[in-house]
Amino acid sequence: MTNFTLPPPFAAHSVATGLFIGGQWRAAKNAIEVFNPSNGQLLTSVADGDESDAGAAVDAAALAGPGWAATAPRQRAEILRKCHELMVAQQDWLAALISLENGKTLADAKAEILYAAEFFRWYSEEAVRVLGEVTLAPGGANRILVEYQPIGVSLLITPWNFPAAMATRKLAPALAAGCSVILKPASETPLTALAIAQIMQDAGVPAGVVNVLTSHHAGVVAKKILHDPRVRKLSFTGSTAVGRALLHEAADQVISSSMELGGNAPFIVCGDADLNAALDGAMLAKMRNGGEACTSANRFYVERNLYKPFTDGMVARMAALKLGEGSDPATTLGPMINAKAVEKITELVEDAVAKGAKLLLGGTMLNRPGTYYPATVIADVPDNARLLKEEIFGPVVALQAFDSDAQVIARANDTEYGLTAYLFTGDLKRGLRISEKLEVGMVGLNRGLVSDPAAPFGGVKQSGLGREGSHHGLMEFTECKYVAVSW
Ligand code: NAP
Repeated sequence: MTNFTLPPPFAAHSVATGLFIGGQWRAAKNAIEVFNPSNGQLLTSVADGDESDAGAAVDAAALAGPGWAATAPRQRAEILRKCHELMVAQQDWLAALISLENGKTLADAKAEILYAAEFFRWYSEEAVRVLGEVTLAPGGANRILVEYQPIGVSLLITPWNFPAAMATRKLAPALAAGCSVILKPASETPLTALAIAQIMQDAGVPAGVVNVLTSHHAGVVAKKILHDPRVRKLSFTGSTAVGRALLHEAADQVISSSMELGGNAPFIVCGDADLNAALDGAMLAKMRNGGEACTSANRFYVERNLYKPFTDGMVARMAALKLGEGSDPATTLGPMINAKAVEKITELVEDAVAKGAKLLLGGTMLNRPGTYYPATVIADVPDNARLLKEEIFGPVVALQAFDSDAQVIARANDTEYGLTAYLFTGDLKRGLRISEKLEVGMVGLNRGLVSDPAAPFGGVKQSGLGREGSHHGLMEFTECKYVAVSW
């Protein structure tokens, strides 16, 4: 089993590339190659776990589970707090690692590490506040005693776009609740998850409580795990298509499932909004992670009186982005994750332009190593354009003018997704009125960022089931037990 050593100036740091099962690093029969999207070069290979490794991971989690569930909440909390401290202390090399395997800018990678670490701190505070209930039954004969117990062995599956934060957003609440887990990270970005596993072990997480199964056979290992009767929870973040397939898989054993899926966020700018605040918010909502975020603003609806100045402002701001390798501190727009992502963005932009949209900036493939797509702005996008229906997941601003609240609400809701919406207005009453009508789990009202470990993150419609973050995120890893008691 080998280690991946980071390039200078972080050559003192390395990440084990094996499977992390039962507190041990193990080799696998096959390997997954991990590439740097900034230049297309091979970074390293990690273990490609198979069905038997999946079985071993369940064995380890099932063995460690009861001990962890019985560990005092305060002790669990202290370990999670230590995870937070270690991550923050090591933020520079961890950010460099994310940038290497994901391609995101160093600024985005650093922000992600702090956001990811915050889940450990938040859930270290929540671990000691899993409160039950006692009430007198209405008939007066007995008490209704309710407690929340750890749900048990949990399978956590995460995507590549936030390799640290999507992992800790599940790991921290699961461990706070008293569950043992198997984490299956995305094959494009496994190194960050492996580094986090090491940090958790260093912080004192007992062997077997956290297991990391890297695998290129996601469907096969997930099926194996979800058909093991010892497994009681599936927590998935990724595309709606895969989420749907996993729900079918989880149905056989009626496994509790939390789903954080795709989005198609509308960004609404009312004519009474502060233009500069709306532009700042738009850049944050659109360009965090180069547009590769489930919360990314996908469709911009601007009231007609502000349409021209807002469009001009977006062209100026998007044109000012500096495209380059994620690890170059001057870069403000890194590469996309892979060639498939670039092809999809290209297709969506070409479709919109063919249907009559006006290309104002970018829109052309770049001839350089790595998987880049330039900052792009398209105006007057017609309703039948695919990019108003599908996740763009890239640096493309698609704009349309609107004329009334009723019209923009109808357009915003015309999608099977319902994760995030953004709304800028100078009239808070109008903002709250529109927010109530938007079919989404989260609204950024005069804000371009909604993610916060203390807030319930999640979607409605086909964007998901359940919530992550906040107290709600912990409750997803508990089971409610009611005891009817007379005393
Ligand atoms: P994806 O293709 O759905 O993959 C996500 C994870 O699922 C990866 O670990 C992947 O493993 C695994 N997977 C793939 N096929 C599977 C199968 N048949 N059974 C079990 N697991 C399977 O998504 P992605 O491209 O990595 O991520 C982008 C998507 O995630 C976007 O749709 C985005 O909106 C969504 N997302 C949602 C949230 C949210 O909180 N709502 C947050 C971030 C991202 P491999 O990598 O090995 O294929």
